[in-house]
Amino acid sequence: MAIEWIVGHIDMQSFYASVEIASNSRWADRRQLEVDHTDPPLAVTGDPKRRSGIVLAASPTAKHAGVDTAMRLGEALKVCPRLITVRPRMQLYLDVSVRIHETVRMTFPLYEPFSVDECFFALPWPSELFPDPVAVARELRERIWDQFRIRCRIGLAPNKWCAKMANKRAKKTPGGVVWWPKDRVLDELHPLPVTEMWGLRRRAEVLQERFGCQTIGDVARVPVGRLRAVCGVWGEVIHRWANGIDYSDFNPDTMRVPHQGFSNRMTLPRDYYERRDVMVVLLELLDEVCERARRAGQAGRRVGIGMTYEGLTGGFYRAKTIPQPSNRPEELYPTLVALLDRHWDGSGVRAVSVSLDMLMQDTTAIQLSLLEDVPRRKRYWQAVDAVHSRFGETAVMRASSLLPAGQIRERSQKIGGHWA
Ligand SMILES: [Mg+2]
Repeated sequence: MAIEWIVGHIDMQSFYASVEIASNSRWADRRQLEVDHTDPPLAVTGDPKRRSGIVLAASPTAKHAGVDTAMRLGEALKVCPRLITVRPRMQLYLDVSVRIHETVRMTFPLYEPFSVDECFFALPWPSELFPDPVAVARELRERIWDQFRIRCRIGLAPNKWCAKMANKRAKKTPGGVVWWPKDRVLDELHPLPVTEMWGLRRRAEVLQERFGCQTIGDVARVPVGRLRAVCGVWGEVIHRWANGIDYSDFNPDTMRVPHQGFSNRMTLPRDYYERRDVMVVLLELLDEVCERARRAGQAGRRVGIGMTYEGLTGGFYRAKTIPQPSNRPEELYPTLVALLDRHWDGSGVRAVSVSLDMLMQDTTAIQLSLLEDVPRRKRYWQAVDAVHSRFGETAVMRASSLLPAGQIRERSQKIGGHWA
């Protein structure tokens, strides 16, 4: 019998809010894994003194009372007067995230991080090591609860996309684990409404309006040529997904920070298709990477650019070594843009990363140029860095960040670059 792989997708429940609740024994002790409402009504929010602050994450109990992510704090307190509000502690969330990801990675042979609170894993099937995939997923879920007091749910299926879909069903399933074996995938998938197809975004409307599709089964019956005619390359992807097929591979290194380097990654609020929009975000990321390098007294000789395309349709990471180490954006940006132009195939961009590595001390690294007043450029950046550390990163920023594509202003109000 040929060995197959079962892919698992894990999603942490109300991650940031759960970390806060777990970190306080006053709340933590009475919680139960299977009973959501043993959590207090808690929200991680912007400044509670300003009622105009925004809800970044809410516990299941708070959500049940009507509190929602991105709601104004004043409104949240109106629907849930008992709401406990706490300020975000991003470093804590990241630390817990790293440890949970590590727990998953130690359990299964294949693993790939997907976001702060989601990851994929895979296990061979059939196998003696994992005789019962559902039982092994439940064990992992219980281990995460025992160690971190974080609830998660797990979808198991023959590929990543189906695992993500199975995970949605796990939400309503006692025990928090759902397995769609290969021969049952279509039976599970096809009755679901087309609006539940993960990764489609506004294309769900196209499928409903142009093709009259109500369910995923309806989508599977549309000839691929017609989908392609209306949705371009996406037509094929949609056709595959609706038929339970997804070719995306495992890449354990998607989020690896280059050893001894600086990097910064941003998930975008929508897919970016325009070069000029991507360039704005690249510069914002590069500015931050350079600032961190300067604070550490380091300069790097290699810059890298990474892109994740929309859905699970791929992306790339490429880096280039430059002649002189640098920590100044004006020197590194042209190389980044050249990498962008060379490797980007024009697909919608969902996330961008920039890295700087092959580091050395910047005092030894930055050679005096005959054509440029280097000490003056250095003083200029020192001044910018000082303003940022005192007044925040939006106190001085590039005019390009004011363009609609710019993310700095929005990001400075969020945690971790995305809503929790
Ligand atoms: Mg989650």
